[in-house]
Amino acid sequence: MTDHDTETLRGTRRLVVDRSVCAGHGLCYSRSPEVVDCDDSGYPVLLHDVLELDEHIAAAEEAVAVCPERALTLESA
Ligand code: SF4
Repeated sequence: MTDHDTETLRGTRRLVVDRSVCAGHGLCYSRSPEVVDCDDSGYPVLLHDVLELDEHIAAAEEAVAVCPERALTLESA
């Protein structure tokens, strides 16, 4: 593994939505439109397969924090 690989692994995250508990009320994409959009029914659409930029990771953390259903989690990518 190269230094670059190590740096990439340390820095990347993945935002995951559990659609079985998502209520579709939109707090996540209202708070963090940089990383979450919505579909025509008001349910979240994740904009990035992996999050590499610090600003995107911070936005994802805010989306997780604002979701009252705990439908969002931020995982290591
Ligand atoms: S805030 Fe949570 S429950 Fe509401 S739309 Fe976003 S993921 Fe779904």
